[in-house]
Amino acid sequence: MTQRLYEIDAYCREFSATVLSCEKVDGGFEVVLDKTAFYPEGGGQAPDEGTLNSIAVLDVQEKGELICHKTEAEIPVGTQVEGKIDWDLRFSRMQSHAGEHIVAGIVHNLFGYDNVGFHMSEAVMTVDFSGPLSHEDIEKVELLANLAVRNNTAITAWYPSPEELAATQYRSKLDTTEGIRLVKIDGVDCCACCAPHPSRTGDVGVIKILDSCPRKKGTRIEMVAGIHAYKDYVYLHNAVKAVMGMLSASRDSVASAVSKQAELIQALKYENQKMSKKLAFYELNPTKIGDCAYAISENQSYDDLIFCANSLLESGVQKCILLSKTDEQNYIYVVSATTNVKDTVSALNSALNGKGGGRDTHAQGKVSAPNVDEVKSVIENLLK
Ligand SMILES: [Zn+2]
Repeated sequence: MTQRLYEIDAYCREFSATVLSCEKVDGGFEVVLDKTAFYPEGGGQAPDEGTLNSIAVLDVQEKGELICHKTEAEIPVGTQVEGKIDWDLRFSRMQSHAGEHIVAGIVHNLFGYDNVGFHMSEAVMTVDFSGPLSHEDIEKVELLANLAVRNNTAITAWYPSPEELAATQYRSKLDTTEGIRLVKIDGVDCCACCAPHPSRTGDVGVIKILDSCPRKKGTRIEMVAGIHAYKDYVYLHNAVKAVMGMLSASRDSVASAVSKQAELIQALKYENQKMSKKLAFYELNPTKIGDCAYAISENQSYDDLIFCANSLLESGVQKCILLSKTDEQNYIYVVSATTNVKDTVSALNSALNGKGGGRDTHAQGKVSAPNVDEVKSVIENLLK
């Protein structure tokens, strides 16, 4: 059985131990020590990283009562090793994990919901709760969580006796009573958990709920704690400051300044579309055949062609066929008339390998032809 130093002292970052076994495995060596401060993967938390005698520890897994370290190089049995944990990484995970316990404990106390899903990435955690939480509920939970941090409450972990366990209310209740480790935050939470935690809530630092959405019949939240909450603040602060600079806006007016910009862009887009249609008509240069007209242009949209067709009909044209070239051999078209255009459209489609259709007096589609002269000749025949 490997002695778990992280359970005795979660702040142990360096330790001495003896190698009990070392076996060659795929991609490295599996080393078992008499004791270790390396936390193995478990309870949603990734395994610790670090070194044994300066040899990188690539993975740490629990196998029964043993903790197996996968190392880059062989360490002979009997070697005394100095273990070093990547402390920044481990401490940030302790902050995140304890932050999650605080939030889940508060949600449980206020609303009675269970934590039914927990995923911990290196920065952001997602937590699924079994019931609905409104925006106001989440704001309240976040405030209470940060007040729990401010109170610097003790966090304790221990293995209770079966009798004590049976008499204790705790989250993540398991069927077994064997080997259950409880992590208690006074007045906030008590939960079955195998991971190392800070000794007081003050070490957790800031807790921030970033987002929430309905999930099945419950709620999924995204949250950060500790150093990751600080980094998130710096990231957003810099982003907002950049926007404030670009828009010459103060903190208080930055959101409305962005909103005004969005409205302005919408208005300009609308104006631009109107101008582009007018320009399309100006550049159309249609060929008249009796009271009909046609034109072949380039890079115009269906909207542009429809606008031009309507303008031609308003000016007294009875039927028009407008095309715009999209590449070497392909065109989009619009056919509009004061009378039914179905015959014209089906003749156009069959002559130029096209497809498309529409209403009685308006149709649109695509055609193709090896050269523009063939297109012209087909259209002129149709409009004669
Ligand atoms: Zn936990």
